[in-house]
Amino acid sequence: CFCKLQGEVDDCSCKVENLDSLNNKKIYPVLRSLLQRDYFRYFKVNLMKPCPFWSDDSRCALKDCHVQSCTEDQVPEGLKGKGKEINKYSEGAQKEEQNCDEERELGALDRTISAESMEAFKNWTQHDDKQETFCEIDDDNTPDCQYVDLLLNPERYTGYKGASPHRIWKSIYEENCFKPEGYVYGSKKPLAGLCLEQRAFYRLISGLHTSINLHLCNEYLFPAKNLLSAPEFRSNTEEFLKRFDPKATKGQGPQRLKNLYFTYLVELRALVKAAPYLEEEDFFTGNPEEDKDVKEGVKDFLEIIKSFPEHFDESKLFKGDPKVAEKLKTEFREHFRNVSRIMDCVGCDKCRLWGKLQVQGMGTALKILFSGDRIGLQSTVNAHHKQRFQLRRSEIVSLFNGFGRLSSSIHTIEKFRKLTS
Ligand code: FAD
Repeated sequence: CFCKLQGEVDDCSCKVENLDSLNNKKIYPVLRSLLQRDYFRYFKVNLMKPCPFWSDDSRCALKDCHVQSCTEDQVPEGLKGKGKEINKYSEGAQKEEQNCDEERELGALDRTISAESMEAFKNWTQHDDKQETFCEIDDDNTPDCQYVDLLLNPERYTGYKGASPHRIWKSIYEENCFKPEGYVYGSKKPLAGLCLEQRAFYRLISGLHTSINLHLCNEYLFPAKNLLSAPEFRSNTEEFLKRFDPKATKGQGPQRLKNLYFTYLVELRALVKAAPYLEEEDFFTGNPEEDKDVKEGVKDFLEIIKSFPEHFDESKLFKGDPKVAEKLKTEFREHFRNVSRIMDCVGCDKCRLWGKLQVQGMGTALKILFSGDRIGLQSTVNAHHKQRFQLRRSEIVSLFNGFGRLSSSIHTIEKFRKLTS
């Protein structure tokens, strides 16, 4: 089968077969159950933000694009903005309400954080917001920002197609991916003559695109067969072949599938790099038993991924002449920020929800890999580093769920491999 991919993932020294085995046997089952837990299932998002690039796109009215939001009492107390009194992170600084808010918001590691270090940490946050983040994160103080239960709104076929998604994808590839000179959108060699970082940017986007399209193939809506039956979501092999068979895609399908493995490897590496930080995180929801279980579950998951020997090597990127490397990194970051803004132009709410979540997850991975902080396995995670490196809850939630989507896509390829052979 064309979807029995082999050999190394491009620009990485890791074999596709090894990733298949790691993901399908170990990562996928563990992550799948972890993502059902309260800490990960509630995602705060603003789906009302206007599109900053064009105004003529109407929101789609398809039934399957609808997002079911949560009522206030469905969300665990510890996650709510107003649950200050039970927020254990803020014990040491309860008098300073503003500080408390920020501390909780950022999932701070050190509960006994001093006023002095809080000041340093605030400076870092300000600095970080301007220069180090790779995507726009919704301001969750606006009333338009709502909690969504991801389990009630699965990513799947919605019927969103035609001019609107084509404009989104075209604008991402044509205006934000780096292109060889004279390149025309959709042509065969999108990477000819590009440097490693520029190729990485394209592959990350293409891998995400593959993942989104695999999910809609895997959970495709079939209409009711008769008046007595209901419509149902199940795998659609024809749709899969249409999108990935080399015969139907001018030979590009298998490469697009392979790009998914690249995206997966990058996010996997970010999780490994942030492992010392994540191992200290409390995953606080206000329910001690639940929080303990999740903390243990995350530890088990991190142990699995840390033991994998063939990780993506981010140190190969943005090397060489520091001025050139810095310029490239700034461009990379700006282009990625644009992609995150484009997500507010997606015309289907369900697709927008998952698009925003996955781009934010990818942006968080890039921040972990390239924000310049030493938080990797090799580095000592001392108090100083703890203060300097912070992730917001929404970054952690989007990183895990975004990676969960990629993991589920790789699992889905195996399913289609069986269905088509
Ligand atoms: P598209 O997927 O729209 O692709 C457009 C063109 O891009 C193709 O013709 C091809 O030239 C190129 N291309 C395709 N795949 C790749 C790749 N992997 N790498 C590089 N180039 C590629 N639909 C749903 O049903 N459910 C969803 O949850 C959903 N989420 C979406 C989220 C976002 C952010 C966007 C922009 C769209 C989403 N869609 C979703 C729509 C879906 O992605 C497709 O756009 C739609 O199904 C139409 O598909 P298409 O065959 O016309 O090609």
